[in-house]
Amino acid sequence: MIIASNFKMNHTRKSTQQFLNQLKEVKTNHTIRVFPPATALFENEIVGVQNGYPAINGSFTGEIGLEQIKEFNIDKILIGHSERRNLLKESQELITKKFEFYKNENFEITYCIGEPLEIRQKGIDEVIKFLKAQLVGIDINYDKLIVAYEPVWAIGTGISATIQEIEETHNKLREFIKSSLLYGGSVKLENIAEICDIENVDGVLIGTASWQVENFIKMINQVKG
Ligand code: PEP
Repeated sequence: MIIASNFKMNHTRKSTQQFLNQLKEVKTNHTIRVFPPATALFENEIVGVQNGYPAINGSFTGEIGLEQIKEFNIDKILIGHSERRNLLKESQELITKKFEFYKNENFEITYCIGEPLEIRQKGIDEVIKFLKAQLVGIDINYDKLIVAYEPVWAIGTGISATIQEIEETHNKLREFIKSSLLYGGSVKLENIAEICDIENVDGVLIGTASWQVENFIKMINQVKG
């Protein structure tokens, strides 16, 4: 299983270092990933970036590019998170450029997709149509691709999608996506084991519940295998 923590805009450099130090002591067969903010990057094989501009360097105020990421020997990136799509208005066109750029650099790309509540309320066919539109321009056969299905209405709300909703959506995604499929959206200590047991769920992307390292470690230990 892949168990990933997205810090979003939480943790400092100091607290990230402490988090990684504590995590180092954990014995697990699972693949762990941690995505700290850009100010708290470390050279560590489990660390990836939450964002990267599709350029080596240049006049892109506030962004970080390949040169800054490579300084830490990082080769993992999150692309397409709903907070960047919705709050920061990242277009599918920009997201596609990022994907192509970091794919050409051989990065492991965790690519996020997820529908808003009004689409979920229209039923599974509309959900899949929406998710497919978020995959336009993305090479779904890229061998270092991980797809994270994260319904927007479940992110940070404390209310996860139901087991049935996750199962049905992942089964439909599996019909055309061969890569690992993560679920994200209010995964917590109480539901991680059950979610990871669902067919076609290859792991989880966790925000809120992962920010306390003790809780993240407990969650990792809940998952079979
Ligand atoms: C996320 O933003 O990727 C996420 C899954 O957040 P949370 O676990 O807080 O819902």
